[in-house]
Amino acid sequence: MPQECIFCKIIKGEIPSRMIHESEVAIAFLDIHPATRGHTLVVPREHFKDMEKAPRTVINQLLATISNVVSIIKEKLPCKALNVLINQGKPAGQVIDHFHVHVIPRHENDGLSFPRSTTSISEKELDEIHVKLTQ
Ligand code: AMP
Ligand code: ZN
Repeated sequence: MPQECIFCKIIKGEIPSRMIHESEVAIAFLDIHPATRGHTLVVPREHFKDMEKAPRTVINQLLATISNVVSIIKEKLPCKALNVLINQGKPAGQVIDHFHVHVIPRHENDGLSFPRSTTSISEKELDEIHVKLTQ
């Protein structure tokens, strides 16, 4: 557990957080720079740099914790839609090297947009990628 990891410090109670839920494997607290009201981080209690480092048992239980967090947010806040997202690695936007999952309430015209369809791709290239991923 790296001494300087801010999420480890939150889990140990050395730094305050606005916790909304906890399970055996993870805690969930409000993001201090929320994309929208209610933006929550679900963070495994154990320090893993990213999803690939976390054991399958943790991943499985984490999904149940995320599902609980989604239920709490939908019950207590005005929230009809959400994004559940993981930034894995620097190019994907991971800033804190302690595996975590963002749960972000979404609303019509909330100004957030997830980039999609920014690249054009040929049928041939799609086929090549499909082969690489399945052979
Ligand atoms: P990521 O870019 O996926 O690594 O996200 C890290 C998130 O942690 C960002 O959305 C930050 O706003 C959030 N964050 C950083 N420090 C804290 C903190 N002390 N308490 C709550 N959220 C934090
Ligand atoms: Zn950590």
